[in-house]
Amino acid sequence: MKIQLVSSSDKCLRTEAVAVVTPVHRDLVEAIEFMSMYMSEHSASGIAAPQFEVPFRVFVAHLLDDIDPFGTPGLHYSDVVMVNPVVTTEEGSQIGYEGCLSFPGIQAEVERPQRIGVTWSDMGDGHHHGNFTGGNARVIMHEYDHLRGIVFLDHVEGFKQFTQRAPR
Ligand SMILES: [Zn+2]
Repeated sequence: MKIQLVSSSDKCLRTEAVAVVTPVHRDLVEAIEFMSMYMSEHSASGIAAPQFEVPFRVFVAHLLDDIDPFGTPGLHYSDVVMVNPVVTTEEGSQIGYEGCLSFPGIQAEVERPQRIGVTWSDMGDGHHHGNFTGGNARVIMHEYDHLRGIVFLDHVEGFKQFTQRAPR
C-alpha cells in the first residue's frame, strides 16, 4: 500500500474513519509502519491514517513512558499503535500548543482533557485499556479527533472560518 500525506483541504481529513478488522491486514500493517517512520522523520508526536487518505480508525502516538521502576527520571518515549481506539473517560482540562503535519507552520493553543481513559486494539489480537495524562492525553485526543473528521484548528476560535467543514 503506497501512501502519502494529503493536503489540508483533502476530504479524507473531514470524513469519519471506519473500524479496522483485527488482526490488521498486511497492507494496512505496511501503511502503519510507513506512518510511524514518517512521524519519526518529522519529529511529530502522533499521526493518524486519514492524514494519508487511509480511511481507517488507526493512529500512532509517540508517548512519554512512565518513570521506570528504578525511579530514574528521564524522557523515554514509545510509539504506540492504537487500532479502533475509544476514549471512554475525560477529566479536567489543560491548555497547550499543538501543531499538525497536515497544517504545516501553524501552531495554536488548544484545550484538552487533563486525564483520559482509552481502550484500543493492537495490530494483532490484543485489546488494551490505559489511562493517560498531560501531554500523552493531548497527543491521543489530537489523533482521536482525526479519526472523527475533526482537526485541531476546529478547537481554535479564530480558525473556525478557515477550517469550516464543506457543506454536504
Ligand atoms: Zn494532526
